[in-house]
Amino acid sequence: MAEHPEGIVLTTVDAIFNALRRNVGAPLLDAKIMNLNPVNWARKSALWPMTFGLACCAIEMIATGAGRFDIDRFGAGVFRPSPRQSDLIIVAGTVTLKMGPVVRRVYDQMPEPKWVIAMGACASTGGPFDSYSTMQGVDRTIPVDVYIPGCPPRPEALLYGLMRLQDIIMKEAPSAYIFDSDGSVHRQRQLEGDNEARATDAEEALTAVQ
Ligand code: SF4
Repeated sequence: MAEHPEGIVLTTVDAIFNALRRNVGAPLLDAKIMNLNPVNWARKSALWPMTFGLACCAIEMIATGAGRFDIDRFGAGVFRPSPRQSDLIIVAGTVTLKMGPVVRRVYDQMPEPKWVIAMGACASTGGPFDSYSTMQGVDRTIPVDVYIPGCPPRPEALLYGLMRLQDIIMKEAPSAYIFDSDGSVHRQRQLEGDNEARATDAEEALTAVQ
């Protein structure tokens, strides 16, 4: 059966746009000015966390947003009431197995690029609740960028975790978030020096075995 001519035209146009995006758009997006990528700088300076708390750690998160600690100094004080307007989820508190799918749904509703902070022992590992009802770390349902230890961590710890997340964002390749023509997002974390670090680790491990 012969292909429909309109289909061939659309496929060709699509291929041209994809090639332009990869070969022109991506390098432009990843370009640095004075060793600083403006896209990353804008992203890390204007993080919008979701208004979302699960247990006691959320009280510390709320305190971080208040005047004494003032998370606004780091550009992350605009807590949004909707996942569709947020790019950061701070999982603050115990994640139960019943709550896990809800956390996942909320995460899926956030647009890319998006980041996750697991705040406190419960969100990171289940904390003191090694029980039938508690998820042993929120990374069993969503990918986590930064883990903050403590039960609960103080607001200073959350601010420190936020700064570490900003470091991660500054090392990302913004083009990794480019949308494919089918609408899906391909997120490929590419941190500077990642491959070298892995190679060194592998070499060291091999030497230790030998
Ligand atoms: S880590 Fe501690 S303070 Fe935080 S939610 Fe768990 S029990 Fe509460």
